[in-house]
Amino acid sequence: MRILNKEVWWSMGAQKIVVIGTGYVGLTTGACMAHLGHEVICVDNDETKINSIRRGILPIYEENLSELVTQGCDAGNLSFTTNLSDAIPDTNFVFLCLPTPTSDDGSADITAIIGVVADIRTHLKSGAVVVNKSTVPVNSANSLVELINRSDIDVVSNPEFLREGSAVRDFLMPDRIVVGCVNPMAGHRVASLYENVASPIVLTDFASAETIKYMANSYLAMRISFINEVASFCHSIGADVLEVVKGLTLDKRIGATFLMPGPGWGGSCFPKDTRAISRGADLTGERLELIETAIATNTKHQLRIVKLITDLAGNNPTTSRVCLLGLTFKAGTDDVRESPALIIGQALVSEGFSVVAYDPMQPRIPTHQIALVGTIEEALRGADVVVVATEWEEFSSLAAENYADAMRGKLLFDLRYVLPREKFAAVGLEVITLGQRPIREIGK
Ligand code: NAD
Repeated sequence: MRILNKEVWWSMGAQKIVVIGTGYVGLTTGACMAHLGHEVICVDNDETKINSIRRGILPIYEENLSELVTQGCDAGNLSFTTNLSDAIPDTNFVFLCLPTPTSDDGSADITAIIGVVADIRTHLKSGAVVVNKSTVPVNSANSLVELINRSDIDVVSNPEFLREGSAVRDFLMPDRIVVGCVNPMAGHRVASLYENVASPIVLTDFASAETIKYMANSYLAMRISFINEVASFCHSIGADVLEVVKGLTLDKRIGATFLMPGPGWGGSCFPKDTRAISRGADLTGERLELIETAIATNTKHQLRIVKLITDLAGNNPTTSRVCLLGLTFKAGTDDVRESPALIIGQALVSEGFSVVAYDPMQPRIPTHQIALVGTIEEALRGADVVVVATEWEEFSSLAAENYADAMRGKLLFDLRYVLPREKFAAVGLEVITLGQRPIREIGK
């Protein structure tokens, strides 16, 4: 592994780039690469999506993304198409930002990537570089080299680390850029696309680049599972988990990020990627038992939350109405893929509760059993129990009196630790958090 020193780079100037897959990663990559001065064409096989972007309506919510897309389109160096064969022959770099969902056995399904690469391989211009940004099983880049089977084309692994909610910032100001390659010249060419990004470039081999991506997500998921387990421990012995978090995170060896208890990790990456790397390791006979445990612990944690809610609130679930605040897997995104809010909401439905949900993003959800309403007031009206599942500011900024006026019951489960518990206690409501003693007991 080498950390590239930018002073020894040659500058390539603006390059022609095609980005295939225009979702969270692809749209961000396309818009940011255009912002960095390159000439970018984004391709997707979803015609509705492309037409909508062309009309200025983005299919996803991401801070500052809409502005960058507009800037790029207005400047003439960002465009969108469904026509792969028109875009490919003239490009120097093809970025693959395609989905790699979980397959039946838990591994990552790279069918979309294989299909696209098989389609484009003969159309690639000599000297072009195929850059994979999707999260793929270790050794996938080697498979792409074999599939392309052309000595004049290079493959580079350039895993993406952006977080939904801060995707543009993360892309333009990443902690590092990882470039995995066999041919260092191709690695340098990809690195120099990021010439105007002030971040260290880690130049390494294919397998290490692919492994860095999986281990980053697995480690962060493990940290969250760890602190969730600490929250349960605090709950049982009467310690305050937020005090414990403060005491832990001041330790520089531990650090402050990804150490906040909550409803368990979710989203489009952590669950899928931990499953995939565990499955991949299983196949090699070298099990990753800590990661396997984190996956199991996450499920157990969510079941524990559902039991806590049911035990404390569910005298008669069939007549109880739960108001679920938040559906996205975290604030700042409209993504509900494997969202803990949905998992917990669905489990409460199975327990017999009637669940009414509100989320400021008004996301489309894959169930009709949770009723989605348009305002927080509507969701709170007549609720016996409130569950705060996503840390949207709207939930913590609404006055406790408004909750009290709208609710029928008196219990709130704050899975994100965002509600001011004393203020709620003052209006006769009880906010329950995992790993903190109830306000009424403190001081006794
Ligand atoms: P996504 O589902 O948002 O986007 C994928 C896009 O690819 C969709 O627009 C889809 O229509 C398009 N597509 C599918 N098949 C296609 C084909 N044959 N031709 C053209 N377009 C096609 O997915 P995403 O969240 O952007 O993730 C993409 C990859 O990046 C995954 O491997 C993911 O693990 C990884 N990743 C995601 C994130 C994240 O936060 N979402 C962060 C880092 C890495």
